[in-house]
Amino acid sequence: MKAVCWMGAGKAEVHTTSDPQIINPKDVILRITRTAICGSDLHLFDGYIPTMEAGDILGHEFMGIVEEVGPEVKKLKRGDRVVVPFTIACGSCLFCKSNQFSCCDNSNPNAHLAEAAYGYSPSGLFGFSHMLGGYAGGQAQYVRVPFADVGPIKIESDLPDEKVLFLSDIFPTGYQAADNCNIQPGDTVAVWGCGPVGLFAIASAYLQGAGKVIAIDRFPERLELARKYCGATTIDYSEDDVIVVEALRDLTGGVGPDSCIDAVGMEAHSDTAIGLYDKVEQALMMETDRPFVLRQAIQAVRKCGTLSIPGVYGGVLNKMNFGAAFNKGVKMGMGQTHMQFYMPKLLKFIEEGKIDPSFLISHRIGIEQAPEMYKTWRDKQDRVTKIVIDPWQDVIA
Ligand SMILES: [Zn+2]
Ligand SMILES: [Zn+2]
Repeated sequence: MKAVCWMGAGKAEVHTTSDPQIINPKDVILRITRTAICGSDLHLFDGYIPTMEAGDILGHEFMGIVEEVGPEVKKLKRGDRVVVPFTIACGSCLFCKSNQFSCCDNSNPNAHLAEAAYGYSPSGLFGFSHMLGGYAGGQAQYVRVPFADVGPIKIESDLPDEKVLFLSDIFPTGYQAADNCNIQPGDTVAVWGCGPVGLFAIASAYLQGAGKVIAIDRFPERLELARKYCGATTIDYSEDDVIVVEALRDLTGGVGPDSCIDAVGMEAHSDTAIGLYDKVEQALMMETDRPFVLRQAIQAVRKCGTLSIPGVYGGVLNKMNFGAAFNKGVKMGMGQTHMQFYMPKLLKFIEEGKIDPSFLISHRIGIEQAPEMYKTWRDKQDRVTKIVIDPWQDVIA
């Protein structure tokens, strides 16, 4: 089969690899019909996630048709059409039983690597480093899906792939980001980053009762989606004289947003002195992540407000204004998404027409175009807002 492989920092290539096989009795093999590139794949591409190995297959947003079924799989049969969540979960451990699927105790075969870094291991993830399981990803023609009765959700309707594909990650991730804010009717929510997760966080905040959502970004195409499709008030932080924390105070009657969502994560952009400091520290391996947005969100949130962090962080952050968070009594929620908990509810929203998640797709490509598109998106060229791949076509004009 063809697959998009990570070959080192800044390098992705399409290779012909061996087809996946059933290894465990609860596996299925999926023939992938659509897959996508996620913003967090760019952290892998840029080489900031440790324990990647040359040849690893990328991709954790995919759907397809069940091709082969392991002997202990009960809910799926050959021919079923499913969307697969990016977090792998056993369904029976303490955490899965508590709907905390992204902290599953049984799905990371390399748990010892994560335990050394984090104390305990989160769940395994598709296509996201050996520390998080070393599972082959889904930017490929086929993939092995473990614990197949727990993750994949069946699509019984004839909704096109593009409308349901983002149940695999970015829609539930944006929804959980808003859910972590415990939004009360009429609340004001500020969202940093109008990439895919940020856009779904905005839409989800309104679905959960927010009165006003303020979105912060610098790219016109993303700000436009935030405004026109999601109904946000926008701040372009690259404009002269814009000081984000002050702008948010002005837009909230001097109080500050009730909740702040950092949908940017470890590779925040900033031309300021502290932004430069982060770049230098990261290059010198003095810190692993550039937490510019996180600092700003802590500073901006109102007293006793909530900070929600769907943006990915990997390691150690410096110069954190933790005293601000402490003295203002800020509540925090973060982490990978408890996908299996949210997927059924969000599929219903799509079926009922409450949201059409395909609104943010800007590029539809074949698999041979994927390596180049990693660069294009990383370099913020060609107005990319979301890339969907048909792995059975080489090139889509
Ligand atoms: Zn993702
Ligand atoms: Zn589990």
